[in-house]
Amino acid sequence: MNLFQKLEGMGHEQVVFFQHKDSGLKAIVAIHNTALGPALGGLRMWPYASDDDAVKDVLRLSRGMTYKAAVSGLNLGGGKAVLIGDPAKDKSEGLFRAFGRFIGSLGGRYITAEDVGTTVDDMDYIYQETDRVVGVHRVHGGSGDPSPFTAFGTLQGIKACLQKKYGHDDPGKASFAIQGAGSVGYYLAKFLSEAGAKVFVCDINAERVQHIVDEFGAEAVSTDQIYDVDANVFAPCALGGVINENTLPRLKFDIVAGSANNQLETNDHGTALEERGILYAPDYAINAGGLMNVAIELQGYDRDRAYRMVSSIRDIISRIFLLAERDGIPTWQAADRLAEERIAMISKVKIPYTKRFKDRLSGRRSHTTEMMG
Ligand code: NAD
Repeated sequence: MNLFQKLEGMGHEQVVFFQHKDSGLKAIVAIHNTALGPALGGLRMWPYASDDDAVKDVLRLSRGMTYKAAVSGLNLGGGKAVLIGDPAKDKSEGLFRAFGRFIGSLGGRYITAEDVGTTVDDMDYIYQETDRVVGVHRVHGGSGDPSPFTAFGTLQGIKACLQKKYGHDDPGKASFAIQGAGSVGYYLAKFLSEAGAKVFVCDINAERVQHIVDEFGAEAVSTDQIYDVDANVFAPCALGGVINENTLPRLKFDIVAGSANNQLETNDHGTALEERGILYAPDYAINAGGLMNVAIELQGYDRDRAYRMVSSIRDIISRIFLLAERDGIPTWQAADRLAEERIAMISKVKIPYTKRFKDRLSGRRSHTTEMMG
């Protein structure tokens, strides 16, 4: 891989490799864009087959965080970290504390959080070395499980979709096929059932499905049948890449709106969805509730504020639909454009001379004077 060519192409600012032999730490932090603020993104622990695979993953994920934060109206940039190792075997206090010390050395440019393969307990070790971490335990001012917020945000996005497609925003008048009965799928099924909606659900884990059937009266379907369900909305809440050339011809839904990351196998599949008359709520915009929730930790966590902010997802999705209509582009592209326009605008707003900059200058001058004296 020609790394610098790749960084230039994807627009990354900085990539940092950390190694610490005694703890076994091999980590990469990618900071994609800090025009809006410090780069925030989770720490993924995974037994990557090669260093190249780890680099590719961290570059892709950190870029995604820039777009997610930007479209969500957050004053945060995009970053991500990967830790090479098996989360089932290779975790230790030393590993996460070493990682904490290293990211502390980045001077606040990167803030870490939980991701695939890491937990709140791991974040607590990192927190012993640096405060540049969110998603810590509630006793330290953390925000706890993000899934209910992600599901609540997804529900707000669904309301925007219903409004656009049917001229009403009542989930109780619609039917839903939820793929994945995990943390987010569970809460989404709960919120939709409470609103009076008809809910179909599937999962490879039969116990999780049964739980939702028993608790909310949902109807179980198989993991293959889910694509053929006759419902208004398909809500992918499990895997990425589920909108692809095999599934597309089967979908009879009017709307695709769910929490899963990277739902489109490629952007072309998003365009093909629209050509079939199916409205798509871009994944990184509709599933930003979890990010908004942890971001509030940085100002002192407040649950009510978190819910208020997550409610804004309805407006964000509506704005994406308006832009798509105005510019005659698919919704996935409108989301990207909204994010890019915000980054470009805020970068320009930051140009004028500020007092903070002046303080820094005078600090340097007195330091220089001291040295000369
Ligand atoms: P989870 O691991 O709790 O649940 C995922 C569920 O999907 C599991 O129950 C799993 O058995 C099921 N599953 C796996 N393969 C499947 C298949 N082929 N068919 C049907 N079900 C299958 O994860 P989660 O936290 O609920 O997240 C769900 C999705 O939302 C993921 O894509 C995640 O990246 C995304 N997301 C989650 C959050 C959050 O706050 N948890 C935030 C943003 C995005």
